[in-house]
Amino acid sequence: MFESIPGQAHAKRYFARAFARGLSHAYLLAGDEGLGKAEFARELGVAIVASCGGCGTCAECERARRGASPDLTFVEREGEQLRLEQVERLVAELSLRPFAAERRVWVLLEADKMTTEAANKLLKSLEEPPGYVYFVLVSDHVERLLPTIVSRCQTVEFQPVADGEITAFLSERHGLDTDAAAALARLARGSIERATRLAEDARGGRRRARYLELAARAVDGDADCERAFLDEVGKEEQEVADQVAAALAASLEELERIVTDPRERSWHQKRLEEASKRDKARRTRLVALDALDHLSSWLRDVWVVSQAGPQAVWNSDRIAALESAARADPQRYGQQLEVAAATRKDLYLNVDRRLALTAMFRRFEEVAESA
Ligand SMILES: [Zn+2]
Repeated sequence: MFESIPGQAHAKRYFARAFARGLSHAYLLAGDEGLGKAEFARELGVAIVASCGGCGTCAECERARRGASPDLTFVEREGEQLRLEQVERLVAELSLRPFAAERRVWVLLEADKMTTEAANKLLKSLEEPPGYVYFVLVSDHVERLLPTIVSRCQTVEFQPVADGEITAFLSERHGLDTDAAAALARLARGSIERATRLAEDARGGRRRARYLELAARAVDGDADCERAFLDEVGKEEQEVADQVAAALAASLEELERIVTDPRERSWHQKRLEEASKRDKARRTRLVALDALDHLSSWLRDVWVVSQAGPQAVWNSDRIAALESAARADPQRYGQQLEVAAATRKDLYLNVDRRLALTAMFRRFEEVAESA
């Protein structure tokens, strides 16, 4: 259980004890985005429903992990919010006894996106669920949840993962040499998810190099890099969409082979299609966020170099380029960094990404011109 998840010693110890002493019926996994809470919630859900207790390797675990167990349900927002109808559907299903297992688990991702009506609907079920029902709520922003929801859950805090642990993870799991792993660990800032994407990028298309080059031009107020940046983001989003579509096609083909009963097959098919849609939405959103993180890391580093020198830069494999780039007044970099941070917040809140990025480049030019 949880062996595949690096860091998070506190949460792992917490649940080892909870499984030994008896589980509560509602948990809230809390902490910043990118700390692996959703993956942890999946493993936790598997461990609660699987009769092996979550060995991680048996057919039952494998099935649940793939989202093919009828006793482990993931609820994610549809559109911007987790809506009342979704919670009503959930509540209506609570009285159904487990299909295959002894327990049924509902994992609510981005629980803070619940509307007030949805949250109020969930409250009563959280308080007195049937004995076989377990809830796992996941949230990057616990402060946005209704206090009455929080108080009915056992809250488990997730912490940023230490650089050393991320370095070890990248060397072992992604085969990077120690220097490269350490450089990426610094950029990941405590997030295993970010570290993983950086490692995949280092092996594959080297987008980071391209985004950093564009960032250097943007910082100088070069107006042409805007289109190149947006094109790069668009191209990558298309690649993600193609990958998701190919994965869905493969799963549906497998389903066709394995499941012969038409009713059962259509049940699985619907689930696979829904999961694929969510996967696509989530991963395309990360494309723009990651692109912006690369750009911000460059900005942040030229700002650091212009004030204090290169000791504390994140892009530690780019020190020479950063030193030759950091020629302007630190104040200008500081202003641009603020613009990038505000843009990230917009993107995170699902503001149209093209509009948000275009507006950011306009502000960059204004800042560069006024300096
Ligand atoms: Zn198992």
